[in-house]
Amino acid sequence: MGIESKFIWMDGRLTTYDQAVVPFLTSALHYGIAVFEGIRCYATDNGPAIFRLREHMTRLVESAKILGFRSLPFGVDELCQASVELVRANGFSSCYIRPLIYLSSPKLNLSLDDGEARVGIACWEWGNIYGDEVLNKGVRANISSYTRHHPNISMTKAKISGNYVNSFLAKAESERLGFEEAIMLDPQGYVAECTGENLFVVRGGQIFTTPLAAILEGITRDALIQLAADLGYSVSERMMGRDMLYTADEVFVCGTAAEVVAVHEIDFRSIGDGKTGPITTQIQTAFHDAVRGRHPRSPGWLTYVNL
Ligand code: PMP
Repeated sequence: MGIESKFIWMDGRLTTYDQAVVPFLTSALHYGIAVFEGIRCYATDNGPAIFRLREHMTRLVESAKILGFRSLPFGVDELCQASVELVRANGFSSCYIRPLIYLSSPKLNLSLDDGEARVGIACWEWGNIYGDEVLNKGVRANISSYTRHHPNISMTKAKISGNYVNSFLAKAESERLGFEEAIMLDPQGYVAECTGENLFVVRGGQIFTTPLAAILEGITRDALIQLAADLGYSVSERMMGRDMLYTADEVFVCGTAAEVVAVHEIDFRSIGDGKTGPITTQIQTAFHDAVRGRHPRSPGWLTYVNL
């Protein structure tokens, strides 16, 4: 399973994978001035369906606004339509979709208004980011030595490409130390999020997650809050120190690429009984049903590609 596909959508039309290239002297490549999304399309009984497409494209356009683009060549409706067209053209039954809005400038300086926004959307077949085996087993994580973004240094509500240098630093450190994921603290020392996932804690039958101020407002996070409430759990936002993770009954992380995955060990301390816990399993199951069109929430969340 590589990242290849027959078609990539570039600036308003489908082009072949090989033709979807940008010049070496593109500002986005040199300075990280781009915004992106990660979206999943799942196989369902009614063919491929894209999960919360409109919410993802709205966040993409909002990320571009936060970064400072004054105008975009395409709006949310056109981007949603383009994604559907792209998945259909590639013929995938399930895939990951990656839209990117990037700065193309003839000057390669640091002036945003000297350039213009260009847009591409790719898709490819991609299983769980940690590997499918991990879905049951969970991951081992450490508290990163790198701090998550300060909200007045990098804009935490935007998926700005340059922001992900921080994620790469943390993830490389964790992986080289033998962990699968990094948990990052905010500049005050409270738990923020992971390199590309939001985080939940279960204690005494209640579910807690970190406040929104310094994290990306995950679309999976929002879905899980709704699914957990449907299951009768109270979910509240709470500032948490790392010690609250060590003594939790369950910890799980979520994101488009990671879906819902337990963290069974943090900093060499096993979490709960060191396995995916019962509440995590319940929420994981509800999420898997929802994205595959088998849950009461599915109709509101899925865009069917072939209907
Ligand atoms: N935090 C960060 C830093 C992320 O990159 C992501 C992935 N987009 C998430 C959280 C989870 O967001 P979502 O559920 O919308 O994919």
